[in-house]
Amino acid sequence: MFNKILIANRGEIACRIMRTCRRLGIATVAIYSEADANARHVRLADAAYCVGPAASRDSYLRIDRIIEACKQSGAQAVHPGYGFLSENEAFAQACAENGIAFIGPPVGAIRAMGSKSAAKALMQTAKVPLVPGYHGDNQDAAFLQQQADAIGYPVLIKASAGGGGKGMRIVEKPEDFAASLASCQREASASFGDARVLIEKYLVRPRHIEIQVFGDTHGNIVSLYERDCSAQRRHQKVVEEAPAPGMTAERRAEMGRAACEAARAVGYVGAGTVEFIVEPAGAAMNFYFMEMNTRLQVEHPVTEMITGLDLVEWQLRVANGEKLPLTQAQIPLRGHSIEVRLYAEEPEKGFLPSIGRLAHFRAPQASEQVRIDSGVDEGDEVSPHYDPMLAKLIVWDETRERAIERMLRALGEFEIAGVGNNIAFLARLIGHAEFRAGRVDTGLIARDSAALLPGPAPVPATAYAAASLWCARQEAAAARARTPPSDPHSPWSEADGWRLNGALTRRLEFRGGETATTLSLRYGDDGLQIDGAPAAAHGENQYLVGAERFTASVARLGEQLHVFSAGAHHVIERIDRLAHAGEEADVHGGLVAPMPGKIVALAATVGSEVEKGAALVVMEAMKMEHTLLAPARGRVVAYLCAVGDQVKDGVELVDFELAS
Ligand code: ADP
Repeated sequence: MFNKILIANRGEIACRIMRTCRRLGIATVAIYSEADANARHVRLADAAYCVGPAASRDSYLRIDRIIEACKQSGAQAVHPGYGFLSENEAFAQACAENGIAFIGPPVGAIRAMGSKSAAKALMQTAKVPLVPGYHGDNQDAAFLQQQADAIGYPVLIKASAGGGGKGMRIVEKPEDFAASLASCQREASASFGDARVLIEKYLVRPRHIEIQVFGDTHGNIVSLYERDCSAQRRHQKVVEEAPAPGMTAERRAEMGRAACEAARAVGYVGAGTVEFIVEPAGAAMNFYFMEMNTRLQVEHPVTEMITGLDLVEWQLRVANGEKLPLTQAQIPLRGHSIEVRLYAEEPEKGFLPSIGRLAHFRAPQASEQVRIDSGVDEGDEVSPHYDPMLAKLIVWDETRERAIERMLRALGEFEIAGVGNNIAFLARLIGHAEFRAGRVDTGLIARDSAALLPGPAPVPATAYAAASLWCARQEAAAARARTPPSDPHSPWSEADGWRLNGALTRRLEFRGGETATTLSLRYGDDGLQIDGAPAAAHGENQYLVGAERFTASVARLGEQLHVFSAGAHHVIERIDRLAHAGEEADVHGGLVAPMPGKIVALAATVGSEVEKGAALVVMEAMKMEHTLLAPARGRVVAYLCAVGDQVKDGVELVDFELAS
């Protein structure tokens, strides 16, 4: 076995690979960009090399510098993780030329599956079922439009070199085709440096079911069963589970065989995933090949949970020339596992990535049944340069129902403040009646966004009470800290409301969302009262108000108090009238950039009247296009930016006048 490997990645996947290496006694070498100098994966590695500035193309995508780091560190092999260079032929080739083992498939297999179009042509020959579509070389716009018309709408335009749902456009009617094609090509060339596209029939309400396969250099290929990744938003996976709800043993075997055929057709070695799109036509579940990912997937942990295997260990063994540890018949399948992806993002704002310092981060206790694959620690920066995934939460239980309950409990135990996050959204999704019933298709989230993204919920009285008691305690502690050591018992330094004669009542003002609330906090001889009810704080996070005892965790970030209680996260602002006297609210109209990025298109005409929801500006940020929409009916007075501009977060982009 290798004794030292380099991990050409960052975040949770780099950390996860290191965990297996540590268990197997293999030393690890990290690479990092200047922005990641203090990142968790760097702290966990045995050695680390800086490979360049923040932008991925100058660091994590620099093949020359990574090879150099291998040589300097003496790493015998490279694990590419997922994303970045994991499916890059040139990288695998460079490793081979430098005598470094690439922990992934042979160069030929990456090439064969690298283009969705070429892969489809190959699968056609191998008789793996395909979705009707055009995947040829002719990229002429008029020709592609003809193909789309012939396939019949809706159609899907995909970037041939695509991945991660990027570039993909659904076209509902012929007159929209040209604009969607241009937009897809633009995003494809920005993200993958390759503007080629393919066109497919767009299936309505399909499921995404993929098969994990593994091959070795001795000609063995097995399936490690399926994962259902149908819960998606904008074609990106949000929740993954194994096994797939409603899967029969026969259909599993059939899909497993088709996937192994697909892998065999390209001489596959190592971990790979064959993705199928599945029509939920009754129990028949017709399946069609979509693509093969020639790497370890983000969602591999659910397969590990149901098989009890460590897929990274298998990758290392295979790369070392060993035979697959188990035959098909020996691979276990037990219980049910679900994974959710925790993102730094704002679901309420169209899932925009959220950037900033992860000021407060608490994860649930890990166990045999609850696994957290995290790429961050409290205090880390979430930067605009990389994917904003914070962690993955994976649970296992004997049945799907129990796994759902376990997932909901674990989600409720997360505490995240400082950056936006999707915890509450995920909890609503997992608890959604359709998800619970196993009726999940790729359109569920978009279809039921009203239930999944309700407006802000009112802050409960218990959260205000916890915030008040927490503030009172903090003030008391701060006062005690100010006490001169010469006079530790001075009553003058007490801030707990104690008075020589009688009780003190204070009014505390808070704002939770749009609502302002005032509480009266009374310090009496017999203890505290909140609005007349006896109240107390015990230990780290136990609170008592009247007859109600509850657990809450409070964290302060600037003006905000974050209260985590009963699985919910409430943000409360303390209004301190004295501190804010004379300040004026910062009121401004217009549309502002929700994050730093580049302007790629101005979608409306200056002076035109537009309806609510009309596209105004298209920005590219974090390698994806984001469209800013009109907040209401109104008029575009002027554009304050131009195509090609690099804009900062919060910069005003459109002078927009609301219709009266
Ligand atoms: P990527 O490589 O960008 O992830 P995929 O080809 O794997 O792209 O597709 C991603 C998702 O897009 C699928 O999981 C599915 O939800 C949706 N999708 C892909 N092809 C189709 C199709 N023909 N009809 C409907 N949905 C599709």
